[in-house]
Amino acid sequence: MPSESVITDLVSIIKDAREHLNYLNELGVTNVETGVQSGVSPNKAGALESTETRIPVLSDSFRDREHDTTNIAAAQVAATISRGTRQSVTTPPQDMLFGDIAAPPPIIEKSFESFEQIWSDVGDCTRCPLHQGRTNIVHTEGNRHARLMFVGEAPGADEDAQARPFVGRAGQLLTKIIESIGFKREDVLIGNVNRCRPPGNRPPTPEEASMCKPFLLREIAAVQPEVIVVLGNTAMRNLLDIKQGITKVRGQFQDYHGVKVMPTFHPAYLLRDPSKKKETWEDLKKVRDYLETTPRRQS
Ligand code: URA
Repeated sequence: MPSESVITDLVSIIKDAREHLNYLNELGVTNVETGVQSGVSPNKAGALESTETRIPVLSDSFRDREHDTTNIAAAQVAATISRGTRQSVTTPPQDMLFGDIAAPPPIIEKSFESFEQIWSDVGDCTRCPLHQGRTNIVHTEGNRHARLMFVGEAPGADEDAQARPFVGRAGQLLTKIIESIGFKREDVLIGNVNRCRPPGNRPPTPEEASMCKPFLLREIAAVQPEVIVVLGNTAMRNLLDIKQGITKVRGQFQDYHGVKVMPTFHPAYLLRDPSKKKETWEDLKKVRDYLETTPRRQS
């Protein structure tokens, strides 16, 4: 009959294991086969004996991010977010009950690149066909120590002409949205998935997005905003592994490698359907409340 302290230890280990599994689930690891069978017997080292290999099923976003690493910039981003992108759950060593399940959380590691270094890698970009129709490359703008970042889709005509993100009608509405939660436009960071204007303002294709997105991710790693508001489906799906549309997901905080992400409607959509402004306001209040009640992260 095991002693009371052994039982207490076991209960605590089982609780920890459950938390780890929940955590893995949040990472998108959806299938962790323990291989532990009903007649579990302690081996010589006292660890549980497992007859099968643990096989993780990584979420699509992790795979997509690996596919994104088709150029140097993407490879650098992959290195930045390396802890977490390649988390594998293998058979633990005999002396470890849960092996590398206890790996550190997949946060974006701070990069010390300047925006100028990143933009010099963008160069006079011809990586995707969008360069053919552009007047200017539109880089991310704003406070490089921002707690809050907004990410849109791609420049429109005004942005292309002025080489600044969100300066047209949708941009003016975005500025009002930012001010509605007590920030000034220059307090936050504003960027897009793509830096060149797509013809007819169509959404960038996944290939076009995958060429440009690594530069955005490098900026995110350099600034490490605490919250990113993704505006509309294109921005949301390029940052998060989400198949559902913005209407379903908006208003619910998501995670991008340790950064809180709030999906909400794109301001251009709000111009077409002003009745949706109420929902956007609700979403932005959550962002405001989070930032107000969370101490500023030390960088
Ligand atoms: N729409 C976007 O997604 N980005 C801009 O910069 C302007 C309009």
